[in-house]
Amino acid sequence: MPKLTFKGGIHPFDGKELAKDKEIVEIKPQGDLVFPISQHIGAPAKPVVAVGDHVLRGQMIAEAGGFVSSPIHSSVSGTVKAIESRLNPTGGRVNSIVIENDGQYEEVEFTPHDYKTLEKSETLDLIANAGVVGMGGAGFPTRVKLSPKDPSTVDYIIVNGAECEPYITADYRRMLEDTEKVVGGLRILLSLFDNAKGIIGIEDNKPECIQKMREATKDDQNIEVMALKTKYPQGGERTLIYATTGRAINSSMLPADVGCIVDNVETVVATYNAVALGRPVIERITTVSGSGINTPSNFKVYLGCNQAELVEAAGGLKEGTEKVISGGPMMGFAMITLDTPITKTSSSILCFDKDEVSKYEPSACINCGRCVEVCPGRVIPARLADLAEHHDEAGFEAMEGLECCECGCCSFVCPAHRQLKQSIASMRKVVLANKKKK
Ligand code: SF4
Ligand code: SF4
Repeated sequence: MPKLTFKGGIHPFDGKELAKDKEIVEIKPQGDLVFPISQHIGAPAKPVVAVGDHVLRGQMIAEAGGFVSSPIHSSVSGTVKAIESRLNPTGGRVNSIVIENDGQYEEVEFTPHDYKTLEKSETLDLIANAGVVGMGGAGFPTRVKLSPKDPSTVDYIIVNGAECEPYITADYRRMLEDTEKVVGGLRILLSLFDNAKGIIGIEDNKPECIQKMREATKDDQNIEVMALKTKYPQGGERTLIYATTGRAINSSMLPADVGCIVDNVETVVATYNAVALGRPVIERITTVSGSGINTPSNFKVYLGCNQAELVEAAGGLKEGTEKVISGGPMMGFAMITLDTPITKTSSSILCFDKDEVSKYEPSACINCGRCVEVCPGRVIPARLADLAEHHDEAGFEAMEGLECCECGCCSFVCPAHRQLKQSIASMRKVVLANKKKK
């Protein structure tokens, strides 16, 4: 019997009450749209438009720059105003295509397809050409994920509906309001793998979603909706695979090595749009929530839209708001400015009236062992952080530092407020970069 949970993990305040009942509202962008050519893992896309060109909504403006890459499409009609370096949400500067919105939203012609009549290679091409990537945050090109060495060894396509990060309700609303698209996307994915069954994994704090998904799949013999124990990081790839199938992977393995492919809810909807509707990735659902925002909301947002516009649409920041995070409070990153665009991986903007992290000064470890108890990577965070702080790469690797999934549980529980995850994550980057060089 598969286990519906994993070892370790934590139960942070989930804050989902703020936005969970807010229906998805579509907002049209007002200002210029900015499209970073690198909003996925892999080679940056290559612009195929020039300054002064007129473009339509849905038109490809940058093509994939390699096999592991993804094209980018304009979400509005208008004129290419510039191709220049712009700040992206992670704080880095990225070459970006800037489009002046003409407010007409004139679209290219989209061609719907019945996936049952397509060859597998045609379905994969539609997904690749639509620019579908992992929209839960990873940004890995979906076409590549769907192309394992031997597709016949894939037993499970797992839809990640856990949404375990506090405050975010984008997937929750998507599952409630676009149930058929989620199920339709999964059916398309299953058509690519002859031996695969579908699993939709949802935390048990979302009973309405579980019920709707069960109803929508009651005639699909090869799809099972699984209720998962609510616990962070239930939606991590490794923890989700373990909870739903009992199979374990480590940092040197891919999910396909244990016969699994995992896709987030928004990615599965993008797959449905790409194939069934012939529409590229030009919009997504983004939650704007937290104690520092006036009207917590879930928006259908046009990619490239300025994040400040979303915050305004959610009633603006409350006075005294101290911190704004892109992504979840556990794995997201603090933003230095709202003047950055929504990208394919922007699941949320969270605004907080108190900066809980910088409030505390770290002190010495008291050897309480709490970080070890909660670590889903089964490593010793206190020891790894020491090794990271002493730049001991060999020791870090020997102590399995690469098995850390950067979930942040250890920092969350540490009574000494040590920045364990930050130290470990920095060291992981160094070790991985050096391994790549070798
Ligand atoms: S060491 Fe890594 S995997 Fe373990 S709790 Fe800390 S951040 Fe999570
Ligand atoms: S939780 Fe903090 S204080 Fe406790 S053992 Fe880990 S690092 Fe040390």
